Amino acid sequence: MNEQTTRRERILNELGLVRWRLRSNARDGDDAGDIDPVPGPTSVPVHDVAPPAAAHDADDRVRTIAGMDWATLKAAVHACTACALHARRKRSVFGVGDEQADWLFVGEGPGAEEDERGEPFVGQAGRLLDSMLTSIGLRRGQDVYIANIVKCRPPGNRVPEPGEAAQCAPFLQRQIALIQPKLVIALGKTAASNLLRTESSIASLRGRVHDLNGIALLVTYHPAYLLRNLADKAKAWEDLCLAREVMAKLKAG
Ligand code: URA
Repeated sequence: MNEQTTRRERILNELGLVRWRLRSNARDGDDAGDIDPVPGPTSVPVHDVAPPAAAHDADDRVRTIAGMDWATLKAAVHACTACALHARRKRSVFGVGDEQADWLFVGEGPGAEEDERGEPFVGQAGRLLDSMLTSIGLRRGQDVYIANIVKCRPPGNRVPEPGEAAQCAPFLQRQIALIQPKLVIALGKTAASNLLRTESSIASLRGRVHDLNGIALLVTYHPAYLLRNLADKAKAWEDLCLAREVMAKLKAG
């Protein structure tokens, strides 16, 4: 562990960070359920089971994506046919912004306007996101990167299916590894549940700092939700103020 990692961990601890452990079968809203169970004995020794060829291919794909530079990653996303979403896309939506940003905002997936233009959050929800950024002294593209859980538009703007999100996850993981943001903001339930591997509600996840493999992560409402639920804008404002505070501490650390 290098000195920078240790310092970041200390700051995250001071911020009262909650460590989330990856698990495959989250239960709704139950924090105790977020702890991986101790694995029980298996009847077949793991080394006796040959993984199927598809698993090898999937591992290879993940490994290849994890080694890509920006240009190769963008080309891979634009050429991706790993899930059914590619068939109906006009354009894939890679992500946009400062590739060395301290702030990373993650949404759900492109809508109709994003699909037309190939850029995330350019519709009505995007205009609200821009106002949210402005309210805490940020601007799209300046120390800010914006990406989504899936890079292609789900038909009718439905929530991406788990398989679609899983195929796209290595792309976002590589973006995060290349950007190395100080703080990730998960916008809405789809972003929060896929990044933190939990089914817990936004209400129970917001207001505290989570750990995304050593990077601080906060959860807030999706701008599209806020457009329909004006009363929750006040809570989103609280979240943004917390984000500003957390970032100040991370930068001071
Ligand atoms: N909603 C999202 O989650 N992402 C976009 O890019 C646009 C709308």
